[in-house]
Amino acid sequence: MNITEAQACAAQLSSGSDSPAADVELLLCHILGCSRTFLFTHREHLLTEQQQAQFEQLIRRRIDGEPVAHLTGSRGFWTLDLEVNATTLIPRPDTECLVEKALELIPVSVARVLDLGTGTGAIALALASEQPGWEIVAVDCVAEAVSLAESNRQRIGLDNVTVAEGSWFEPVSGMFDLIVSNPPYIDPQDPHLGQGDVRFEPLSALVAEDKGLADIRHIASEARRFLVDGGRLLFEHGYDQANAVQRLLADLGYNDIESAQDYGGNDRITWGQWGHPVKEGNKQNAE
Ligand code: GLN
Repeated sequence: MNITEAQACAAQLSSGSDSPAADVELLLCHILGCSRTFLFTHREHLLTEQQQAQFEQLIRRRIDGEPVAHLTGSRGFWTLDLEVNATTLIPRPDTECLVEKALELIPVSVARVLDLGTGTGAIALALASEQPGWEIVAVDCVAEAVSLAESNRQRIGLDNVTVAEGSWFEPVSGMFDLIVSNPPYIDPQDPHLGQGDVRFEPLSALVAEDKGLADIRHIASEARRFLVDGGRLLFEHGYDQANAVQRLLADLGYNDIESAQDYGGNDRITWGQWGHPVKEGNKQNAE
């Protein structure tokens, strides 16, 4: 079997995947240890017998619905290549919108930042790679996720992130300029839980009580004790939860509350500010 013949296997995935051609390319790059460019410039390249057997096995597992990231053990996020496994959520491209917004909201090179429910470490490590002067704490309550995030941190070589195990703020001390989280936010009744990649991801990373809002509410309430005056709290949430999250933040006393969209045009992230900082230029007027 050569690369062109292997790529034709995408047809077998067309019923179970939104992106059969891209799935096959990722599987081939993984098995051959090559770049996508290689696939297009070496169409006649033959797979060894062993590579072909491995490819056929991964195609069968993909037909059964297993996420490509679980089959290859990795997923690209931001500029990073992250190790992924079934103990936590697979990083989504839309979460890059949260990273972008965090960098925009805190345009300073020295800051203390907390990432709650870090999973693979995706958000914390992306922020750390962009802002080497930020001191970032990344927390997860699942021991295997903590090991995974720590292994990603070490492999990428970022020494401004500390990974800690515990439930939300439990292992945390000190104050933060920014708290970010992509917590579980899916309603336990949501029919999407029976479809696609989420079937292979842990419910603890996906589902929250109270129509998916329980963890967001808990974090937003507790965060008030950990944010400096003028600090920001930034969430990823469900495509239809922006209004509820805005209201919840307002009820808890946050101000400057706004939402922004993901790549699909859904309101996917919402943030608020804690406290009422006096801007430098206004100090005199305020006194
Ligand atoms: N965005 C993911 C999904 O809808 C869920 C992520 C989460 O619950 N934090 O598949």
